[in-house]
Amino acid sequence: MSAQDCESLSEDLFLLDMDELPPERKPAVDAHLAACPECAKKHGKFERFKAAARAPSADDAAKEEKLVKNWPDIVARAKAEAERRAAPRGPSGALLVVALVLIAAAAAAAGLWWVRSDAPPSRQGPGDMTPIDTGKGSGNK
Ligand SMILES: [Zn+2]
Repeated sequence: MSAQDCESLSEDLFLLDMDELPPERKPAVDAHLAACPECAKKHGKFERFKAAARAPSADDAAKEEKLVKNWPDIVARAKAEAERRAAPRGPSGALLVVALVLIAAAAAAAGLWWVRSDAPPSRQGPGDMTPIDTGKGSGNK
């Protein structure tokens, strides 16, 4: 199985993952999955991701954070694909649900990452150099 096959089937594989693959194209993808451990692995990973994304959860924010943390590459790809495909005709129900989950998950994660990376340890700005006066210098001449 050449990388060319993987490349040309990656779109179909993604559609299969999104439950959007036209039935007439499914046999070719199934055949490739059976012959290509690399793509089968990716597909299995996505199946687990979908199961996790659709699982009912009491805490959606925590679930989304977990999804993004465990499958960052899938989230990034699915978000990009969903946005690309969402525009004019409107996505189908299944895709829309996944897309919304993914976009929400990505947004939540981005927010969390932003807070973590940008929140300074103190409120002191870079130009606010308060001189430290410990009193040590006074009687030490
Ligand atoms: Zn492949």
